[in-house]
This record gives sequence, structure tokens and C-alpha cells, in this order.
Amino acid sequence: MPNTMPQNLRTPGPTPIPVDINEAMSDPMINHRGPEFGELIAKTTQQLKQVFMTKNDLYILTASGTGSLEAAIVNTLSPGDRVIAATAGAFGDRFVDMVEAYGADVKRMDFEWGSPMDPNEIRKVLMAEPEIKAVLVTHNETSTGVTHPVEEIAQVVKGEFDKLLLVDAVSSLGCIPLPVDAWDCDMVGTASQKGFMIPPGLSFISVSERAWEAQQTAKMPRFYFDLSMAKEYLATGQTPFTPNLSAMYGLSKALDVLLEEGMENVFGRHSAIAQFTRDHMKELGLELLVTDEKYASNTVTAVKIPDGVDNKALVGKMRTEHNVVLAGGQGRMSNDIFRIGHLGAVAKSDITDVVDALKIVLPQVGFKS
Ligand code: PLP
Repeated sequence: MPNTMPQNLRTPGPTPIPVDINEAMSDPMINHRGPEFGELIAKTTQQLKQVFMTKNDLYILTASGTGSLEAAIVNTLSPGDRVIAATAGAFGDRFVDMVEAYGADVKRMDFEWGSPMDPNEIRKVLMAEPEIKAVLVTHNETSTGVTHPVEEIAQVVKGEFDKLLLVDAVSSLGCIPLPVDAWDCDMVGTASQKGFMIPPGLSFISVSERAWEAQQTAKMPRFYFDLSMAKEYLATGQTPFTPNLSAMYGLSKALDVLLEEGMENVFGRHSAIAQFTRDHMKELGLELLVTDEKYASNTVTAVKIPDGVDNKALVGKMRTEHNVVLAGGQGRMSNDIFRIGHLGAVAKSDITDVVDALKIVLPQVGFKS
């Protein structure tokens, strides 16, 4: 049963939804093949391009973030294509699994969880294997709270080797700078339930000229995520399939709010609240997973579970006794960390509430500072 009492939802998505955005989402249904929808999709697509900092084509898909990543893969690659898929966490692993599922010949590059990917290692593989067609990377690894150096990776992948670059920006876009054109990223996918402050159900993807060229010859099977259909329909103010209209209303409102604040200010706000969170965790005597602050994510912070502390009891008590919903660890880090989301609509007071609750709960679950 969903809890009807508002929680301090500190998962790294879905995020809380501001009241005005919630209200916008209760607007009546419209004909998705009619002129009102044509205006709505034209407006939101233009605004999203501003957030992505791109002049590339951009599509709104009715799918969770994974849909945009699947679209990036199936629209650019063919079975048997040699690709690098770099991973340093649960979502990087999933990107590997996805491209393998579609039959790519994957050079998997594992980096330590909690550390950044090393562009130089990627350079070495690209030098050794000239047949590589594309490189898949995660910008912000939500499972560890690391923001990978995509700008440097792009300089190698695009600047030095001119390969396709497919980026998972699900938990960064709209919160942490990712200027798609300046960094020359070919396909960048993200999702509605993160920095956009709306419910899950929409994903957004930018497509470079180079990606469109690749699309002409890409042979991986595709239908729902065939972006040539999205392109054809967008030209007439429509989507190929019935869109999530309520989420689109919310998106329209959210984009007004974000652009009015100004993306530089939005990025600055995320940076400040992330620093605030990290500083407070350290003050409590806790250790952060990411040791080099340069790579610490501005959307999610991973905190190491101190020796002797029961992670399940900690997360459970925070939720049931203090109404604070933290995220546990994922994949192989399930028992090692808990995570605090600080993206989208989040105020410093939300983090202060987390800190105050931790002060009470930590000693109850075995923490000795
Ligand atoms: N990639 C990253 C970095 C994520 O954080 C997530 C979700 O949290 C995903 C991919 C998957 O997105 P979705 O669950 O919206 O399909």
C-alpha cells in the first residue's frame, strides 16, 4: 500500500514532485493526434534541447530511462559490432547486459566501484582494437555515487578515435552539467523521475547527425524504439505511439520551472546541496564511498556502512520511525553502503532532517563513533 503521508523521499529517483507540477498533471486528457498535443510536444522538445545543451534531434519516449538506453543501442548498432562497454557499478553492468542481449561483441571494461572510469584505459583499448565502433558509458553511476569524467572520455572517444559515444545520463541530466554538443556525445538518454521532478514513465534521448548516419545501417531489431518513426511523427506534432500525456503536462511545467531558474543555477544548487550532504555525513563520523571529491556525485551520496551496523535495520528505522526513505546499496554493494538522493526538488532542510534522524538511529543500530 502506498504511504499517503508525504515521506522525505531520499532515493535517487523517483524524487518528490512539487505541488504545481502535480497540479499540472491532473489536467484533462487531450487528443494526442490533435493540435494541442502538437503544441505541447514542440514546446517541451525545444525546452529539453536547452537542458541537454544541444541542437541535435531530441525525442520524448514513453518508457523508463532504460528505454532511452535501449533506443541508443538498437538505433546505432548491428549484431556482431565490436563495442566497449565501460562499467563501475550496477547501472554500468546493466548497460553491458543490454548491449550483449542485442548481440554486440562486447569488450567489457570494469573499473572499481566507487572510483571514476579512466579515459586512458579506454584510449589503450581503442588503440589496440581499431574495429571498435562505439563506446558505452554511464555519466553518473547511481549505485556508487560517482560522476564519471565523460568530458575526458569524449575527448578520447570522439576527438582522438571518432567512434560513436552512447551515454547513460539517467541520474545526471538536468542536475550535473552534460553539454551534449560541447562534448560531442552521439546519443544521450535520461529519465523523467530524476532531475525533472516528475513521475517515472518518460525518457528523453538526443541523437547526433553521426548517430543518424549509423542508424541507416544498424541492424539490431527495433520497433517501439525505432527513432526514425519518432522523427517522422514529431514532424507532424505527434509520437508514433500513445504518449503518457499526464507526465507530459508535468514535464512542460517542470521545464518552465527549471529554465526560469536557469540551468547554471540548477547545477549550482545541486552542487551546494551535495557538498552540504557530504560534509554532514563526515561530521557524523561516517565514511563516504567516493574518496576523491572531484568525482563525488551531485545527485546521490553513497555512505559506507560502519562496522557493526546492520544496514537493513538502519534503513528500516529511518523509514518507519523518522519517515526518511534512504536507498540501500545495489548489486555487489548491497551490504556495504546506503545512499542519499539529493536531486530534483530537494531543500537543505530535507538533508538536515536526514542528519537529525541519523543522529538518533545510528547508535540504536550499533554505531560507535
Ligand atoms: N541508469 C542509471 C544511471 C540509473 O540511475 C537508472 C535508474 O535509476 C537507470 C539507468 C535505469 O532507469 P529506469 O529505471 O528509469 O529504467
